[in-house]
Amino acid sequence: MKKIGLSALCGVMLVTSSTTAQATERLLPGLGNTGYDVQSYAVAYDYSPGTSQMPASVDIVARAEHGLSSFTLDAVARQVKSVTVNGLPAEYQLDNSKEKLTVKPRIALLPGLPFRTAISFVADRSLEPKSPSFPEQDNFDHWTDWDGGFELMGQPNRSHLFFPMNDIPSDKARVSFRVSVPKGYQAVANGTLRSERTKAGRTTYVFGTRDPIPTHVAQLAVGHLTEFKGTGPHGLPLRSFVDSSKAKAAGARVGLVPEQLQWVEEAIGAPYPFETYGVLGVGGVTGYALESATLSMFNADYLTGPVDGSDGTMVHELVHQYFGNAVSVKTWDDMWLSEGHAAYYTGLYHDAKGRRKLDDFMRDAWEFESGERPKYGPPGRPADLSSILYGTNPGGAVTLYALRQKLGLKTFQQIEKTFFERFRNKAASTQDYIDVVNEVSGQDLTAFVREWIYGAKTPPFPG
Ligand SMILES: [Zn+2]
Repeated sequence: MKKIGLSALCGVMLVTSSTTAQATERLLPGLGNTGYDVQSYAVAYDYSPGTSQMPASVDIVARAEHGLSSFTLDAVARQVKSVTVNGLPAEYQLDNSKEKLTVKPRIALLPGLPFRTAISFVADRSLEPKSPSFPEQDNFDHWTDWDGGFELMGQPNRSHLFFPMNDIPSDKARVSFRVSVPKGYQAVANGTLRSERTKAGRTTYVFGTRDPIPTHVAQLAVGHLTEFKGTGPHGLPLRSFVDSSKAKAAGARVGLVPEQLQWVEEAIGAPYPFETYGVLGVGGVTGYALESATLSMFNADYLTGPVDGSDGTMVHELVHQYFGNAVSVKTWDDMWLSEGHAAYYTGLYHDAKGRRKLDDFMRDAWEFESGERPKYGPPGRPADLSSILYGTNPGGAVTLYALRQKLGLKTFQQIEKTFFERFRNKAASTQDYIDVVNEVSGQDLTAFVREWIYGAKTPPFPG
């Protein structure tokens, strides 16, 4: 490990990037980095069963937002072996207690220009420090070991356990994984399979996303998996992967994906935003599902359930591909924009299928939210880590329902479509949504939405 020196730099005026997470992340101070914008991560792992350690590397392309003599990344690793910036060896320091990797390029970075950082490191799946802000609420396996393999659960603030990154939802980037596995294992990750080569008993899979995604929905699974291929609306390629021991039983539920896609596209009024979709059914996932970009993750047992109407969670994670992934949240205080939409459209789906009236679904959500708001905080000011993940669903959904009841279905649908199309592949804040509401409705509904999102008490049930 090399220490960061303090030698003076010549020539240009430089600003050293620093972590200003208090300014961006109210609840998760220390998270995130400033001074650059990441365009892409190319991650590589060599996986071998029987050890938690994996030789790894990540190649990060970013653009400097101002002159940088040094910069930081969110990171936890067993060891960093080398760092280069634009091909030249750089000084670096890994501090696992602060979860930061500080990098000092040999030649300072110029404002506006892209730069490439290549980091060779050792990832260790047994290295799982608890979330520093809310250790008592961090009850997840993030490197989720399962059946000799693993998958990832980084939401909201643990994806930097997997590789060094700028781990905030507003800094989206294309992500690719190159993973080498021994015979009998398979790897699958976000996006599309770009290559698969077998040599000397090991197979190397390369998956990558066409579009930028937020870091908290990066996904890679290694294990014994069976692939289901299919085609969605307007020729969208589908691929799902399920624990091979449960694949046969999961066939019926996996087969629901095309019609769910069709329904969601019509309800939101916009085509599915990514280049592929599918579900991932694995072990080790208990009590939650995750909207991994292009590949929603579930416990395989959930996918073996009957096709009897309890497929709402599949629709919930699918809607997140629009709201949460394609339109990501700017900060975790905006999480209701992701969870509220996922919950709202799930209620709408049950109504459309004749299972339950939307009004009844929303009344339950409202009752729950009214009772829990003092504990969870209002949807736009979650009280803690659990509230980010679970407390923003019902309040966000009822807020959208209140807007729909106030403005009528047609105007509400126009708001949704406009918001989605305007912020697709970008990040949006609560104010961004309010601006679209006001623009499309022709009214100033700022106070109305703010009361639902930030009020100490839940407003009366809509209508
Ligand atoms: Zn959700």
